[in-house]
Amino acid sequence: MKYKKYAEKSCQKLNEFQNDFRKKYDTDNYENWFYNQSSETLRLYSENKEIYFKYIPVGTFSQKKNTWMWSWANENSVEPRKFQTLKVKEFGEKKNYENLTNEHFGGDNFTGWELTSIAFEIIGAIGTYRVISDDLEKYFLLTEEITKEEVEKIESELIECGVHGKLRKAFICQHLNSKQKTGFEEAFETYRGMELDEEDDFQAWCSECEKERIKTNGWNDESMEFAKISLVCEKCYFEIKETNE
Ligand SMILES: [Zn+2]
Ligand SMILES: [Zn+2]
Repeated sequence: MKYKKYAEKSCQKLNEFQNDFRKKYDTDNYENWFYNQSSETLRLYSENKEIYFKYIPVGTFSQKKNTWMWSWANENSVEPRKFQTLKVKEFGEKKNYENLTNEHFGGDNFTGWELTSIAFEIIGAIGTYRVISDDLEKYFLLTEEITKEEVEKIESELIECGVHGKLRKAFICQHLNSKQKTGFEEAFETYRGMELDEEDDFQAWCSECEKERIKTNGWNDESMEFAKISLVCEKCYFEIKETNE
C-alpha cells in the first residue's frame, strides 16, 4: 500500500474512534490542560471537575517552522514511554514509509493528526489529544484514565536525578558506571520506556557481583554487602546499559 493511502485509512479509523472517545469522556468540555512529562499524565480540568489520563507522547509540530518531530527523536523530552513510538519507526522501515522513519521533516497543519493516527493504529490507545503552547503542537496517545490518587502515587515513586530530572527509579550495584564495561546482569530483560509491573524495578549488577551472587546461591547479606546497591534514575540506568553493549 502506498503511504498516502495508508495514512488516509488510519485517519479515518481514528476519526471514528475519537468521536466516541470525546463523547465518553466529554474531553471538549474542560477549559484547561496540564501535562507532566515525569509521570506521563495529562490532566484536563475546569473549575469543578477534572480528569486524568496516562499518555504516550507521539511527537510535536512547530507552527513556526512547519516541521514535525517524533518523540523518540526529541532529546528534550523525558517521558520514558516515548520510545514506544519506535514501533512506528520499525513499521516504517519495513514499508519504506519515510515519514515514519525520519526524525523530523516539513509538513502542514494536518501532519500532526496524520502521524498521530498512524501511531494510534500501531501502538493502540483509548483516544488521542493535542495541546498547543508557544506555537508548538504536542500530540498524545491516551492509554488509560487514571485517578488523582494514582497520579500522586506515580509521582511519589519518582527519583530526582541531578542530570535528568524527575524519573522512575532504578537500582544498580556500586561497580556499574557509564565509563567502563563491567558486565551488566539484570533481574529481567529490559528496554527503554518499558512498562513495569507494580512489584518490578529496573535492577542491574556487574559480572563480579554476579559471581558473588552465584557463590551465595542468590542474594544474601554477604553478596548484597559486596554489591552495595544504589539508586539511579532510569535514564542513567540505560546509559550504563548501553556502555556495556
Ligand atoms: Zn557490582
Ligand atoms: Zn539520571
